[in-house]
Amino acid sequence: MKFPRTMRTHCPRCKTHTEFNVSLYKAGKRKAAKQGERHQKVRKRGYGGQKFPLQHNQAKVTKKQSLMLKCGECGYTHQRNGIRLKKVEFE
Ligand SMILES: [Zn+2]
Repeated sequence: MKFPRTMRTHCPRCKTHTEFNVSLYKAGKRKAAKQGERHQKVRKRGYGGQKFPLQHNQAKVTKKQSLMLKCGECGYTHQRNGIRLKKVEFE
């Protein structure tokens, strides 16, 4: 699906319609020093291995994609609700 690079929509901080820059949400990089990663490392130690089931056979062929909108005037950033898409393009 094609999306515009900029769109005019309501900004809750400016309390009016402004020009927003549109981009695709991407999950942040996993950091080995973070608490959850450290806990998982401890849990996986010794006999027993993996502590929760990993999903191997995926039923879905698409991924939920959500748009990040950044206000051009105040820099306020928010996300649009995710929709299932195979391909995302920006014009
Ligand atoms: Zn704004």
